[in-house]
Amino acid sequence: MERVRREDTVQVINGKDASGGHHGKGKRGRVIRVYPDRGMALVEGVNMVVRHEPVQRGSDGGRTGGIQSVEMPVRLSNVMPVCPSCDRPARVGFHGEGAAKRRVCKKCDDDF
Ligand SMILES: [Zn+2]
Repeated sequence: MERVRREDTVQVINGKDASGGHHGKGKRGRVIRVYPDRGMALVEGVNMVVRHEPVQRGSDGGRTGGIQSVEMPVRLSNVMPVCPSCDRPARVGFHGEGAAKRRVCKKCDDDF
C-alpha cells in the first residue's frame, strides 16, 4: 500500500514550493499520478514549469500550443498527504493486513 495515492491532497514539505502558498505554508495540490518505481508523483499546480510548444490550429479553428504551464513530478519524500480530519500534513501509519489493511493518520488515528 502506498503512502501517497492518486486523488490525495498533499502538501509540499520540501523543495521550491514548500515556502510558497498562503501563510507561508507549503503548496497543496491533488495528486494526479503516482510513479511508485521512481518514488515520484505528479501534483496539480505544484512544481510548474513553462513550456513553449509550437502553436497549431485545430480542426475546430482553436489554437493549441504556445506558452503552457505543466506540472513536473515531485519526489514523494517531499510531499505529505493531508489528513482530512486534521487538515494538516499527516504522518501515516498502516493498520491491519491484506485487504483489511487501512491507512491511518498517526495524529488522529482516522482512516483516509
Ligand atoms: Zn488526522
